[in-house]
Amino acid sequence: MRVLGIEGTAWAASAAIFEADESELRDPSAAASGDHVFIETDAYQPDSGGIHPREAAEHMGEAIPKVVERALDHARERAPDTETGPPIDAVAFSRGPGLGPCLRIVGTAARAVAQRFDVALVGVNHMVAHLEVGRYFSGFSSPICLNASGANAHVLGYRSGRYRVLGETMDTGVGNAIDKFTRHVGWSHPGGPKVEDHATRGTYVDLPYVVKGMDFSFSGIMSAAKQATDRGTPVEDVCRGLEETIFAMLTEVAERALSLTDADELVLGGGVGQNERLRSMLAEMCTQRGAEFYAPEPRFLRDNAGMIAILGARMYAAGDTLSIPDSGIDSDFRPDQVEVTWDAGEPV
Ligand code: ATP
Repeated sequence: MRVLGIEGTAWAASAAIFEADESELRDPSAAASGDHVFIETDAYQPDSGGIHPREAAEHMGEAIPKVVERALDHARERAPDTETGPPIDAVAFSRGPGLGPCLRIVGTAARAVAQRFDVALVGVNHMVAHLEVGRYFSGFSSPICLNASGANAHVLGYRSGRYRVLGETMDTGVGNAIDKFTRHVGWSHPGGPKVEDHATRGTYVDLPYVVKGMDFSFSGIMSAAKQATDRGTPVEDVCRGLEETIFAMLTEVAERALSLTDADELVLGGGVGQNERLRSMLAEMCTQRGAEFYAPEPRFLRDNAGMIAILGARMYAAGDTLSIPDSGIDSDFRPDQVEVTWDAGEPV
């Protein structure tokens, strides 16, 4: 089976080809590496400030046709014998959550390609894709999933046919919070990698630590971080304080979710998951409690069409496809709205 994935919820105009046979789809250990996933991404880089929805949509409109054609060229190379037939079996696209103007372009592109080749259309929840890619490559059965992405922050577990949100941000997404701080100090988007770099040269400073039950809040920390730099605290120190505080909050809630559900596997997803300090804190916490930890390679953590193609292939194999009239986007699509039709392991 060969599936085209198209991602375009915000900054990444991305297309991917995922190839797998039925046994690889059912037994992730047979697909322990991402070598057989081809990903082509064209990233939107704002001239100044953060992601502007109109500019992001303009970029999406220009870039999506190009990355899709490159992915299809790859599919044709992989299947020279299908000159007369379609080079793909299905098209999967990110249906939401994300920026409406970007999602509409991706949905239109996916419908057009599916109709052009007369193949199935699969609508993928972007957040669930961020998590399922780690579960797929780890082979974990019933992990707790921490999604640390730009616009979101969730801790999830799987039960009774759905991912359940056990904890989440009460205000901004974790990456967006970091990016707001870096905009304040005049750094270009995205801010996360710059915070990681500066933090290595900084000394920890205290910032508000806000965990309420299983939920977390980032807005107060960001205000305090901005005020600290305005008062003259070295930016390296504030970056160190930011990393230690925010990542300790995520680690605390992830640990509590493991404890409450008696789970012993943790999967990380989302672009902030590229941060080495976050990964080491989570790995250390898991080691201390005898749990296993898995974080996918960086190209599968930040927004990418590979995760859409992989989950799309599993949904397609389960018969979870969309008719064109039912394939509308949903910019507020929550992970717990998704009925899990593919193998999502044992309930936690
Ligand atoms: P979502 O997936 O929730 O829609 P998104 O589309 O913004 O969010 P992701 O690609 O998951 O995107 O994550 C992008 C975020 O990751 C940005 O906020 C960026 O600053 C942050 N980020 C990237 N690298 C790092 C890093 N090394 N450390 C911390 N944050 C990082």
